[in-house]
Parts: sequence; structure tokens; C-alpha cells
Amino acid sequence: MRDIALNWEFVARAPLRVGAGKELISLKSPVDLATIKISMGGRSTPYIPGSSIKGVFRSVSVQLARSKNIKVCDGVGENTCMTAGKQQGGQLKKAIDEYLRQGMTHEALKVFEENSCVLCKIFGSPGFLSHVHFMDAYPVGEPTTNVRVGIAIDRKTGAIWKKALYKVEYIEPGARFKAGLRATNLPNYAIGLLVKILRLADQGYVRIGGFKTRGFGLVGVDNIELAINDPEAKGLKLRPLDKFDSQVDLEDCASLENGRITVRGDRAKACLEKLERVWESARLGKDS
Ligand SMILES: [Zn+2]
Repeated sequence: MRDIALNWEFVARAPLRVGAGKELISLKSPVDLATIKISMGGRSTPYIPGSSIKGVFRSVSVQLARSKNIKVCDGVGENTCMTAGKQQGGQLKKAIDEYLRQGMTHEALKVFEENSCVLCKIFGSPGFLSHVHFMDAYPVGEPTTNVRVGIAIDRKTGAIWKKALYKVEYIEPGARFKAGLRATNLPNYAIGLLVKILRLADQGYVRIGGFKTRGFGLVGVDNIELAINDPEAKGLKLRPLDKFDSQVDLEDCASLENGRITVRGDRAKACLEKLERVWESARLGKDS
């Protein structure tokens, strides 16, 4: 059993808008699009739900995997391994549900492992077995919010709606959010994939939240910390977890803290690059 905690901070470098996930479909009256908020210490403050962050990681992962010619499902909508499992004729979910109903957990897991793509194995399928849990990201200090007024355009005709002004609430650049994920039994290449997405976000290739086409959602990624608890680890070497995985030696860039292999601070970058290289070199899905 290997437990992983990956923590980092998102710093908004552009306006950031995380809403309830609704599209602007009907704008018959002026609409206020408030950022999603949570009550903390008696105040209402914006935050980034873990589910939003997970959605970003999953969709970027799909692109990254496909660019390596790894066959993966969309993870959302119609084309998922659960609904389009090739060997079950689209019935993987039914097969799993049937096993679970009979209390045959081991068989359910086996049929899932054999018939789902690497991203479903890492991120889980709707309602089944996620190895990664993304936590809600809460602000450090009090983020400043502001409101911008937009004009709604009818997507079909391009015409401006009558009374179509709407107000969008957003978080001002500079706001900082503590984000993180917890994972169990994640192979080294999967850690590398997650780390790569953080690097791409920091370099401006991955945006968070809504209104991305209007320049929103650019974030920096600061203070990455990785802690791995693996009773079977030897020193600072991360053992491979499956046949696609390879060992990573973190001796020159990590330390042991409370029995955990810990990566942080100035030396973190070297370790994170090593993990990313495992993802790059993993020959996933190339054995059949
Ligand atoms: Zn899948």
C-alpha cells in the first residue's frame, strides 16, 4: 500500500472564475454569475472545488495520453470505458454492478482492471474506484473579487439578446489557493503525469475555471510538495508498481521525513522532473 499526498498552491495570474459549472444558455434577463463560495469562519469566501480541479486534470490527461498514442476514453459523456467497454459490448458498468450486487468485489475489480483505460484506472470511472482524490482548494488570506459586465450573444444567430447584459463575478489576480490531492497505489508514471500537468499549468498551457477564451484562468503553481508513504520502499527509491512502471531514485533530491519520502523546496524540481520522465517513457498500452 502506497499513500501519496501532493500539495501545491495555485496563484491567479489572470482573473479567475469558478462558477457552479452552468453554461450561459438562457439569458432572458440580466444574470449574475457569482463565483462559487464556501462559508469559512463566518465569512463567505471563494474557493475552487476539488471536482473542478479533477475535471481539468482528467481532460488534460486525455490530451497528453492521446499525444502518446495511448488509447484512453473521454472520461466524461458517452465515451467512457464504463459505457463503451469493448469486451463487454458496452456493458462494463453492468458487469461491474452485477458483481458488486453479488458481493463479488474481487471479480468486479478484475473486470474493471482488464477493461478500462489507464486514465480510468488512475482517476476512476463515474461511481467506481478512483485512486486519486482532489481536495477543495481554499484561499490563503482573503481573495479580492470583482464584477465585470458582459453582453450575451445568441450563439445561433450572433444577435445580441434583448436585455442581455450580465455580470460576471471573478477573483482578482494575485489570489492564492492551497490545493492538493491524496492518492493510493499510484504508479510512478501516474505521479509523473500529475506533476507534468502542474508544470503545464504553471507555464500557462492549462487554465482553471470558466471564461478561458476571454483570458481568464491563468494560474501559477507554487510550493509543490510531494510526500509518499510506502512501507515497501527502500530508502529514497520509488519501486515500480506495475509492468509499465519503472523505479525512480530520488536520493539526490528528496528526504525522509517521518518515514515518508518527501519532495519539497529548492531540490523538488529535480525529483519532479525525474517523475515526469517516467510518464514520458512508460510504454502504456503498447503490449497488446
Ligand atoms: Zn477509460
